[in-house]
Amino acid sequence: MVDSLKRHGRLTQVELAGSTGLSPATVSNIVKELTATGILHTSMTSRSGRRATLVSLARQLGLVAGVHFSSRHLRIAIADATRTIVSQSALPLALDHRADAELERLTLLLSDMMDSLGGSVSDLLAVGLAVPAPVDPRTGMVSATGLLRGWEGIDIAESLTLRIGRPVYVDSEANLGGLAEAREGSARDAASAVYIRVGHTISAGLVVGGDLFRGVNGKAGQVGHVTIDENGPICRCSNRGCLETYAGAPALLSLFPPGEGMQRLSDLLSAAEAGDGSARRVIADAGRHIGIAAASVCNLFDPELIVVGGELAEAGEILMAPMRHSLERTALSSSAGLPEIVGSSFAEWAEVRGAIAIALDHVSVDAGAGAVPITA
Ligand SMILES: [Zn+2]
Repeated sequence: MVDSLKRHGRLTQVELAGSTGLSPATVSNIVKELTATGILHTSMTSRSGRRATLVSLARQLGLVAGVHFSSRHLRIAIADATRTIVSQSALPLALDHRADAELERLTLLLSDMMDSLGGSVSDLLAVGLAVPAPVDPRTGMVSATGLLRGWEGIDIAESLTLRIGRPVYVDSEANLGGLAEAREGSARDAASAVYIRVGHTISAGLVVGGDLFRGVNGKAGQVGHVTIDENGPICRCSNRGCLETYAGAPALLSLFPPGEGMQRLSDLLSAAEAGDGSARRVIADAGRHIGIAAASVCNLFDPELIVVGGELAEAGEILMAPMRHSLERTALSSSAGLPEIVGSSFAEWAEVRGAIAIALDHVSVDAGAGAVPITA
């Protein structure tokens, strides 16, 4: 039951019975016991006009941190066991950031944030961390060369644990964004989903039954490196004509003459929102290209739902309508139709929420000891 609450946050007693397979009477008894011992917290709510007891983990069970290093931003949030965020912080990152300098900076920021909450880093039960590259689940290192040069060959979790003395769990940003959307966001009700993250880079996370499918090297879902044109431009992964060379931020921004003020994706997004025709056209073309890669994902993986996240997803239908169109044109058609394409629930905080989720997955909640990190 505690596991269900860790996965879904708050649930009513009826939903808890559904997710655990226990009878409503048994759930009610267990909830009473665990509330008395301080593990659970209950409150009254109304669902479809009827009163219901809403159950969550108790807040005082301890804090975890979720961290997201994207290509251009660092986002950090501290959350309690109910996944309520109690402190958050975001700052820009230089392109080609390096692990040593950034993990050092993160150590200071985590310490400041915990200070202002009246605690210290040693109070954190665990830290989840997202990076913009695939991570090998066996070694904890970036598993593809050329995608995140300043972080290659480093055991990221171990390196941060050495600095803060707390357990750290690392995965790719697409995987963790996908996990957040599947557990508590747009894909909450889907049995399988693909989270396509479109920002400075393009990647995807595959989620089945609320858990990630990582592949043997953690490279599952690297749709940014699906070949669109064998004779196309050279990609940073050293292949040619990858999706990223057509629809990644550097490719989109390079289409504008210097001096037009298109430095970052945010410039392109505000121009599109203001009705600028060329900005809207560039985003629509990116959507068409991404739709072709999404069609390959559908042919291979056949997901129930596609969730689009990352900074470019803020363009909404300007991006997603052409994506849908090219998915319909290129994917193998089926009698049940193609998966729906929807936007992310958590926008730029999805990956941080996924990082909080993997941190909480590694925290054990016991009646006697409260919440403690699970030691393998
Ligand atoms: Zn590539």
